[in-house]
Amino acid sequence: MAEIEREAMEYDVVIVGAGPAGLSAAIRLKQLDSDLQVVVLEKGSEVGAHILSGAVLDPCGLDALIPDWKEKGAPLNVPVKDDNFYMLGEAGQIRIPNFPMPPLMNNHGNYIVSMGNVCRWMAEQAEELGVEIFPGMACSELVYGDNGEVKGVVAGVFGLEADGSYGPNTEPGMELHGKYVFLSEGVRGSLSKEVIAKYGLSDGKEPQKYGVGMKEIWEIDPAKHKEGSVTHTMGWPLGSNAGGGSFIYHLDNNQVYVGFVVHLNYKNPHLYPYMEFQRFKHHPMVAELLKGGKRVAYGARAITEGGYQSMPKLVAPGVALLGCSAGMVNVPRIKGNHNAMLSGKAAAEAAYDAIKVERSGDELAAYEVSVRDGAIGADLKKVRNVKPMWSKWGLTASLMLGGLDMWTNTFGFSLFGTIGHGKNDAEATEPADQHKPIDYPKPDGVLSFDRLTNVAFAATNHEESQPCHLRLGNQDTPIQVNLPKYAEPAQRYCPAGVYEVVEKDGKPEFVVNFQNCVHCKTCDIKDPSQNITWTTPQGGDGPNYPNM
Ligand SMILES: Cc1cc2nc3c(=O)[nH]c(=O)nc-3n(C[C@H](O)[C@H](O)[C@H](O)COP(=O)(O)OP(=O)(O)OC[C@H]3O[C@@H](n4cnc5c(N)ncnc54)[C@H](O)[C@@H]3O)c2cc1C
Repeated sequence: MAEIEREAMEYDVVIVGAGPAGLSAAIRLKQLDSDLQVVVLEKGSEVGAHILSGAVLDPCGLDALIPDWKEKGAPLNVPVKDDNFYMLGEAGQIRIPNFPMPPLMNNHGNYIVSMGNVCRWMAEQAEELGVEIFPGMACSELVYGDNGEVKGVVAGVFGLEADGSYGPNTEPGMELHGKYVFLSEGVRGSLSKEVIAKYGLSDGKEPQKYGVGMKEIWEIDPAKHKEGSVTHTMGWPLGSNAGGGSFIYHLDNNQVYVGFVVHLNYKNPHLYPYMEFQRFKHHPMVAELLKGGKRVAYGARAITEGGYQSMPKLVAPGVALLGCSAGMVNVPRIKGNHNAMLSGKAAAEAAYDAIKVERSGDELAAYEVSVRDGAIGADLKKVRNVKPMWSKWGLTASLMLGGLDMWTNTFGFSLFGTIGHGKNDAEATEPADQHKPIDYPKPDGVLSFDRLTNVAFAATNHEESQPCHLRLGNQDTPIQVNLPKYAEPAQRYCPAGVYEVVEKDGKPEFVVNFQNCVHCKTCDIKDPSQNITWTTPQGGDGPNYPNM
C-alpha cells in the first residue's frame, strides 16, 4: 500500500481521552501557562458519551485542581448521607456495621455524581482556559520519532473499507504531534497497551487485574428513594463462584444507579457475569426497591483492580500513562476518579516544568515520583492486599484479614508485606469440564432483562460497513480451542452480546457482532487464549451514555 499522506499539527501536549484524568491534565497545563498549546482527543461522540463510572466521587482530586469548584457550578449536587454495607444470602441479608470499617472506607464528604456530567463540566472549564477538545476523534495509532520516542498520535481516520483498507471514502486522519503525549484512555487502553508492551513498562510488576462492571440507571418510586444513600453488597448471587459485589447509589430526581462488578479472575468458564447481575436484582431487598420503577439506561466497562503492585512504570520517552490507563483504582473503595484527577494534575506539572526548560520527548520522571510518593501512592498502598487476599482466601477471610490490614496500614505498617496477584485474569480461566454449568433463571422483563434488550439502552452504534474492531489473532481459535476446552466463554463474559457460537451447515461458527460493542474491553482481558485484541473503531462509534 502506498505511504499514507497526513497533515500534522504541532502541540505542546497531546492528550488521548477526555475522562477525568485527561481533562484534569489539560486544565492544569493551562492554569500553569495559558500559552501552552494543549489538545484533548476523545473517541466518544461527545465528552461523557463513554464515561460509565456511576459514581461516588471523593472530591479530593477536584479540590486540588479547581478549589472553587462549588462556585463554578460543578455538578456535585448529592452529598452522601448514609453508607450501608450488606452481606447477602439468597433470601435475606446481614448488615455489617460501619464501626469496624477502616476510616478510608467511610463515604462521608463524598458525592454521588454522574461522572459523564462531571466530565462535561470539566471540558467546559478546560475550553474556557483555551484547551482544544475534539470529540468524535479516535486515536488509532501512535507516531514514533527518530529516537524511538512517542511523538504523537494518528486521529480521525474515518470510512475505512470493511477489510480495513483505504477506499474512495476514507479520510486518512491527521497526525497530532506533541512535546509530550499523555495517554488517559482509561482501563485497558489500546495505545496504552502498545506502549506498556513496547517499553516493557510492566516488567517486574504484578499482572494487572480487572473486573467487569455493569450498571443500570433506574427511576424508582419516589416513596422508596433516599437521596444520598449508598449501599454496597457482597455474597449472593456470586457466592464462591467469583469475587465481586454490587452498588446502589441514590442520586437526585428519584434516580438510582444499580451496578454489579464481577472480578475477572473467575475460574469457571460457565459463569455469566451479566446474568449474575440480572439475578442480583431479584434479591428481596433489591427487588423491593426497584419494583414499580423502570430502567432507563444500561452500560458496562471493565475496572482495574490490580492496584499498587500492578501499576506499570508510568513514563517512557515522550509519553506518560494517566489514571486508569495505569490502573489507579482503590479496589475496596471502588474509587478511581479522584486518583485519575490527581494523576492528570501531576503529569501536567511535570510536563510544564520540562517544557519550561525546553525539554521534549524524554521521560517525565518527576511525574512517576509524584504519583508513587504522593497522595495516589499512599491511597493505593494502604489497600494493596485486599484484592489478592480475596483471590487467594475467599470473601470471609479477606473481609477479616483485609480489614485488619487496612487498619494497620492506616497506622503505616502491614503484617503481610505486599501480596502478589499471581496469574492474570485470562490465565485464571479453567477448562469447562472441571466446572459445573450454571443454570440462570430467565429474565422476567420487569426487574431483569435479556442482554440485547439492555444493550439497546446503551445507545451503542458502529457503522456496519466499518471493519470489525475486535481482531482475532487466529480465526480458528474460538471454535478449535476455546469451544472444546472452555465452552467458548466469550458468549457469556461479554456484557453486550457481541460474541455468539451459532450452528451453520451442522457446524459451529463463531460470530462477532461488533456493532453491539460498548467498549468495555472485557474480551481483550478475559479471552483464555488471548486471541482477541480490542482496537479503536472510528470516532463517534460506541455507546452514547446520557448521564451515567
Ligand atoms: C462500574 C464501575 C463503577 C465505578 N464506580 C466508581 C465510583 O463510584 N467512584 C470512583 O471514583 N470510581 C469509580 N469507578 C472507577 C472509575 O470509573 C475510573 O477510575 C475512572 O473512570 C478513570 O478515569 P480515566 O480518566 O483514567 O479513564 P476513563 O474515565 O475511562 O476515561 C477515558 C476516556 O478516554 C477515551 N478514550 C479511550 N481510548 C481512546 C482513544 N484511543 N482515542 C480517543 N479517546 C479514547 C474514552 O472514550 C473515555 O472517554 C468505577 C468504574 C466502573 C467500571
